[in-house]
Amino acid sequence: MSIAENVARIRREMELAALAAGRDPCSIQLCAATKMNSADAVREAIRAGVDCCGENRVQELTQKLAENAYEGAPVHFIGHLQTNKVRQVVGKVSLIQSVDSLRLLAAIDAEARRQGIVQDILLEINIGIEESKSGFAPEELEDILPKIRDFSNICVKGLMCIPPIGEKNGDSAIFFKKMCKISVDIIRKKYDNVKVDCMSMGMSQDFPDAIANGSTMIRVGTAIFGARDYRK
Ligand SMILES: *Cc1c(COP(=O)(O)O)cnc(C)c1O
Repeated sequence: MSIAENVARIRREMELAALAAGRDPCSIQLCAATKMNSADAVREAIRAGVDCCGENRVQELTQKLAENAYEGAPVHFIGHLQTNKVRQVVGKVSLIQSVDSLRLLAAIDAEARRQGIVQDILLEINIGIEESKSGFAPEELEDILPKIRDFSNICVKGLMCIPPIGEKNGDSAIFFKKMCKISVDIIRKKYDNVKVDCMSMGMSQDFPDAIANGSTMIRVGTAIFGARDYRK
């Protein structure tokens, strides 16, 4: 199947999941997770109508920007970002989805100030509390969220998560429900400079469950581009 056919199929599945949940299909965006795919593949996905692209690695982002691969769609950063690389990302992407520490928040804020911009970001939540994953632990949020007001060159637009790899279909749902609860709690407490307009959750394997539980943006790689070749 071509990239265009894959995108069309995913759109239909997104629509079905939205309608089943009583949600407006237009309220959910499709982000193409483009890691390890070529500039041409990215262009094809954009032509097929994905809403945005998400890149994982700084080096790949820099290279594809130089190739004008993302022309016609916003690009987001969705991978782990080291503080010493913020210069290559801040101002180059419309959203950094994967902000996972107070140190990184401070570094992005400082770089955005230097550039005279406000950088939109999401806070990544380590919703399965896994050693191997980055992200804020849910219990940490109460301490972190009041501090965001001091970062005037950052705007928190919402939350992102990557749940633990499940064994069967439906295993992610419990984590999406937890994310939904966290978002409701944040809205209720009204922190300065923190919005939860964007809930980035759901990937190739579990996006219908994410949509059923309030996702506003799914990040899909394999189902659009096919399996990644990790030997390269
Ligand atoms: C690779 C990746 C995705 C997409 O994963 P698929 O299972 O290929 O759809 C989504 N989010 C992040 C952060 C990723 O690194």
